[in-house]
Amino acid sequence: MSAAVLRVENLVKTYGEGDALVRALRGVSLDVERGDYVAIMGASGSGKSTLMNILGCLDVPSEGRYLIDGTDVGSLDEHQLAVLRNRKIGFVFQSFNLIPRMSALANVELPLTYGGVGAAERRARALEALGRVGLADRVHHDPNELSGGQQQRVAVARALVTAPALLLADEPTGNLDTMSTRDVLDIMDRLSESGRTIVIITHEDDVAARAKRIIRLVDGEIVEDRRQAPVEGPPPRPAAQTSAPLPGNGSGPPRGAGGDHDERPACEVRSR
Ligand code: ADP
Ligand code: MG
Repeated sequence: MSAAVLRVENLVKTYGEGDALVRALRGVSLDVERGDYVAIMGASGSGKSTLMNILGCLDVPSEGRYLIDGTDVGSLDEHQLAVLRNRKIGFVFQSFNLIPRMSALANVELPLTYGGVGAAERRARALEALGRVGLADRVHHDPNELSGGQQQRVAVARALVTAPALLLADEPTGNLDTMSTRDVLDIMDRLSESGRTIVIITHEDDVAARAKRIIRLVDGEIVEDRRQAPVEGPPPRPAAQTSAPLPGNGSGPPRGAGGDHDERPACEVRSR
């Protein structure tokens, strides 16, 4: 089995038919290795969310194959798909998508509840995840008692609490101010350093600058796929109460292994 967490082969997605046909993805192929940190960029309408929804098993492609951790997603029934989504994928959305009138703690416990984890373990893991994003003193607050940046950190904790193979984020800083953007990106950096696999969608250059690899979409096709050197700059500002190190998932390669910071194409750019 390959080390790819994600393998996408010739993905095509069309919406509608006849004169109203929209070709949102026109044959996208890509591999994402364990521990990689990928930013998917592109103008509005280029197919980013369509690709993300397929990668997150929230939508199915019109053509092509998609494997996650070696499993062909197309071969799964609804129930198997729901289990895969719960166990393997953590989502972060632009609009946070927290459940209102439920504490931060209860929100973070939710994926564990769906996953059938018992109450005591659920609580312990949710508290730990909230501690990791610097919110140990806000666990009993409801979303409307938290700032946007804090809400997004709760959403990151919720995405992480199941220890997913893959963290998918669609414009996670799109609704945040500069300070909160930095907090969230610092957390992503630490997750990446601990071996997590991250795919982030963004149209902001300074967000993409944190990633190890940049993929650019134009009109549903990959036109660029390159590795970039880590940004030089001041070390990440430690967020309050986040002094505890982020545990890795135990399976990621050490950062820098294989000399993956040089400028070279990450994979063949396929476009037709
Ligand atoms: P992005 O996230 O890069 O802005 P999208 O993936 O949302 O792009 O959209 C890609 C193209 O597919 C656009 O032309 C969009 O209008 C179209 N599209 C997206 N979702 C639908 C849908 N549910 N029905 C019809 N067309 C859609
Ligand atoms: Mg979008």
